[in-house]
Amino acid sequence: MSTSDVTLPNRVEIYDTTLRDGSQLEGISLTVDDKLRIAEQLDWLGVDHIEAGWPGANPKDDELFRRAKTELHLETSTLVAFGMTRRVKGKVDSDDTLRHLVEAGTGTVCIVGKCWDYHVLEALDTTLDEGVAMVADSIAYLKDLDRVVMFDAEHFFDGYRANPEFSLRVLEGAVQAGVDRLVLCDTNGGSLPADVEETVRSVVSYFGDDVAVGVHLHDDTGCGVANALAGVRGGATQVQGTINGYGERTGNCNLTTIIPNLTVKMGIETLPPGRLERLTPVAHHVAELVNMALNPQAPYVGTSAFAHKAGLHVSAIAKRPDAYEHVVPDSVGNGTRFVLSELAGRSTIQLKAKELGLELDGPTVNQVVDTLKHLEHEGYHFEVADASLELLMRRTAGWEPSWFRVESFRVITDDASPTTSAGEAPDGVTTEATIKVWVGEERLIATAEGNGPVNALDLALRQALAGRFEALDRLHLTDYKVRVLDTDKGTGAITRVLLDSTDGEASWTTIGVSENIIEASWQALSDSLVYGLLRAEVRQ
Ligand SMILES: [Zn+2]
Repeated sequence: MSTSDVTLPNRVEIYDTTLRDGSQLEGISLTVDDKLRIAEQLDWLGVDHIEAGWPGANPKDDELFRRAKTELHLETSTLVAFGMTRRVKGKVDSDDTLRHLVEAGTGTVCIVGKCWDYHVLEALDTTLDEGVAMVADSIAYLKDLDRVVMFDAEHFFDGYRANPEFSLRVLEGAVQAGVDRLVLCDTNGGSLPADVEETVRSVVSYFGDDVAVGVHLHDDTGCGVANALAGVRGGATQVQGTINGYGERTGNCNLTTIIPNLTVKMGIETLPPGRLERLTPVAHHVAELVNMALNPQAPYVGTSAFAHKAGLHVSAIAKRPDAYEHVVPDSVGNGTRFVLSELAGRSTIQLKAKELGLELDGPTVNQVVDTLKHLEHEGYHFEVADASLELLMRRTAGWEPSWFRVESFRVITDDASPTTSAGEAPDGVTTEATIKVWVGEERLIATAEGNGPVNALDLALRQALAGRFEALDRLHLTDYKVRVLDTDKGTGAITRVLLDSTDGEASWTTIGVSENIIEASWQALSDSLVYGLLRAEVRQ
């Protein structure tokens, strides 16, 4: 079917399940506070629905729904509680899961139910008729209680392939019971776009105007987003997914990709007007709350999404960015970035300066080029350390950070275990850092213990500066990478440290190089804090 034969919807609802399905990702462990903060971000972005969790399934989700009533003030989004259909042969009014769902107190609920005959017969060990009744009874019960009800049709695409007659019967039962949305789920994530489009189209044409259809897709074939686009082409008017594609196994349909695809590329309304440019900050903020570094190559929102490597085309890109960028980066809250390397010439440096809003005269540009060549020879790698590069360019132009000046620091690492005996403090290696720093005319000294030299230095410096710079509280380190450059020298080799930091809205990388790993780490650390303070000042 060609594009011209497809009628696209004017509007697609965005249903976020980062807090429920997204938190199934290995390595994610969110506190109730984290979940409330993420919900605030989602509301600020402007998604239609926020599926917050599964009441009754764990104490954390119960607390979340309880606290949401007073602590969450959503302006754009609707909070949704998730649950499942009644038990086999059970009664709706004495079903614990449904009771918890109702007690969560949300106006909208979403329940999942089985649509694949194989699962009904094997996993539930009951008849197909009872399978349909479980779904229909549960929806009717929730509709009686005036809830808006979404039905997640579990394993729908697999079920429809195996036994379309039964899968449609389940949906029909849901529609007759008054369901508000049928959401077709690719629970195993194994479907491909053509199949998804075809299946959604059959369901949409089967039910006509009786009910709206949505899609919930996983990324196991690398097609989570493509399948959602296919679903919308097939007539779906709701897309479920997660921020940054978090989710079990390979993840869910990535909302930070599908939202701009639908909005910018297909002209379909998704977020309220003016919200799309919040996408990049929200992606970074949620990544921080989830405590996982955002993939730099993430479409639209990654730090490399609009990065151009210096070369022959640099001046052409600067003149006509639309010839080299598929969308205007500002439209999704991201920006064009020119990546420098030792090949960087004068024109690249000038462009980079322009990007950063710096006025550099001819001699300063030459000086930056020379300094870069010299430092890259020593082992610096500015291509990946944009923040250090910006500081270097500013310093070459005569700028000096004025927030604080370090007089000296000292790091001591101790192995306490040989002297530890019964009744003493726990044994092991401890690291302590002492720092002497000036803020204006005031000399400040602080000592802190950390779980390593970088951590101890970071804590000592923050302690010394405590209460003086508000921006430092929001700033923290997210990744620390060490690479040994001269391997034939063994421990005498040169060490390169890369440090990733964030203030919750943007992430940046700084670099340090030295024969001494602590010195290299210190360079990267102090650049990171200075850059964070600079960012806060520029943004005010
Ligand atoms: Zn799922």
